[in-house]
Amino acid sequence: MRVHESVADAIGGTPLFRLARLGAGTAARVYAKAEFLNIGGSVKDRAALAMVLAAERDGQLRPGGTIIEATSGNTGIGLAVVGRARGYRVIAGVSDRAAAEKSDILRAYGAEVVLAPTAVAKEHPEHLFNVVRRLVEEIPGAWLADQYDNPANPGAHVGTTGPEIWEQTGGRVTHFVAGIGTGGTISGTGRFLKEVSGGAVTVVGADPESSVYGGGDGSPYFVESIGHFVHPQTLDDNWPKSYHREVVDRFERIPDRESLLTTRRLAREEGLLAGPSSGTAVAAALRVARGLGPEDVVVVLLPDSGRSYLSKVFSDDWMRGWGFLEEPRTPQDTEPTVRSVLEPAADAGGWPGRLVAVESDASLAGALATLRTAPGGVAPVVLARPDRPYGFSGAEVLGSLSLAEVERAIAAGLARPGDPVDGLIGAALPTVGVGQPLSAAREVLGREHDAAVVLLDGRAVALVHRAELAESG
Ligand code: PMP
Repeated sequence: MRVHESVADAIGGTPLFRLARLGAGTAARVYAKAEFLNIGGSVKDRAALAMVLAAERDGQLRPGGTIIEATSGNTGIGLAVVGRARGYRVIAGVSDRAAAEKSDILRAYGAEVVLAPTAVAKEHPEHLFNVVRRLVEEIPGAWLADQYDNPANPGAHVGTTGPEIWEQTGGRVTHFVAGIGTGGTISGTGRFLKEVSGGAVTVVGADPESSVYGGGDGSPYFVESIGHFVHPQTLDDNWPKSYHREVVDRFERIPDRESLLTTRRLAREEGLLAGPSSGTAVAAALRVARGLGPEDVVVVLLPDSGRSYLSKVFSDDWMRGWGFLEEPRTPQDTEPTVRSVLEPAADAGGWPGRLVAVESDASLAGALATLRTAPGGVAPVVLARPDRPYGFSGAEVLGSLSLAEVERAIAAGLARPGDPVDGLIGAALPTVGVGQPLSAAREVLGREHDAAVVLLDGRAVALVHRAELAESG
C-alpha cells in the first residue's frame, strides 16, 4: 500500500484493463487506460498539475493568485483539485452544453463556476472564451491556464501517459487510440510512443463524425469534450496549439449513436463506467482492432468517469428524447412510437418531405410558400446557411413560424409579403425522439404547440403534427 503526501501524488499511474468482452472476436488485444481513476476523475488532472507547476515555476502564478480556465469541466476539476490545495482561487468558465454534474463537482471542490454558451460564434462577446478572457483582465493576479495553447498540456502526456503505456505493455503497444479535445492527450502520448518505438506505434484519432478534425462539416454533435465544432457564423476558426496534427496517422469518425451505445456497453459488459468520449474512443479502437493480428496491442484511453453523465448517456429517457434509443421501454411495452407515424416514407431514404424549415433570411412571401407544405402549418426557422449543408439542430434553430399568424399579420396590414421573417418568429417547436411512444409525444406538445420536430440521432428529420399523434383505437 502506498501513502501519498498530497493529492497531486495520486495523479497518473492509472491501470490498463483488457476489453475482453467488447474485444471478443478480434485477434488483437485491446486494453483500456482508465483515466477516470485519477484523483479528480479524469485525464485532465495530468494537464492541470503540469500547467500549474509550470506557471509557478516561471512566475505567472504567484501566491494568492487566481486560476482561470475555459473548460468542458474536467480541466477545471483538475485545476480545482490541484489549485485549491495550493491556496489559489479557482474560476472555471464552463460551457452550458457540458453535463450539469461537472459544474456541481467543480463547486464541491470550491471552484467558482461561470456558465457561458459555446454554441455561438467565437466572435460573439458572450462566447465562453471571451467571457473568460474578460475575467482574466479584470481580476488582479489572475492566470489563464489556457489548455488549448499551453505546451505544458501535451507536455504532461509526453512525461507521464506515454511512458506509462510503454511500460505497462512491455513495449508491445502497436496502436494508440484517443479522442481530441485540446489535443494534449493524443499529441503528447502519441509523440512519446512514436519516439520510443522508433515510429512503430500507429496513432489513431477517435473523432465525432461531424467534427472538422477528422474531416467532418463542423456541425453539432453530442459527445462532449472532444472534436471540433464550428458555428455557422464563425468567421475565423482556429485549432488549438496543443493539438499537433502531424502526430495522428489516421482517424476513425464515429457517429454519435455508436459512441453513446458503446459507452453504455462499456459499463454493462466490462464494468467500466466511463463518459461518452470513452465510448467514441473504444468504438474507434474496436474498428482498428478488427483489421489487426494476434501480435497487435491496441491501447485506448478512457478520459473520464460515467458518473458525470448519469442524466445523459446513461438515462434511457434522455437517449430516447434525442432519438438515440428506439427499443421498447419494457418487453411488455407495445405502444407505437413516433416512428410509426412517419414510417410510410421511410423506404425513400428518410422523410425528406417532412423536414420543412424556413431559413432566417427568407421573406414572408417565401415563408408562406414553405409553411403551406408543413404539417400543421408550423415550421422551425433555422439560421440561413450560406456555404454548406448543415442538418439543423440546437444551435441553428432560431424559433418557429406559423402559417396562420403570418396570414393574419399580412391581412391586418401589420406586415408585408416582402418583409423579412424576423418580426414574426415565435418560440422554438418542442422536440420528440423518433423512438418515443405517441403518448410521450402528445405530452411534449401540451396545449400550446401544434407540431414537434422529430429527432433521429440528435438531428431533425421530420415534423409531426398534433392530428397525427391522436390516440388510435
Ligand atoms: N474526453 C473528456 C471527457 C475530456 O474532458 C477531454 C478534455 N477536454 C478530452 C476527452 C480530450 O482530451 P484532450 O483535451 O487532451 O484532447
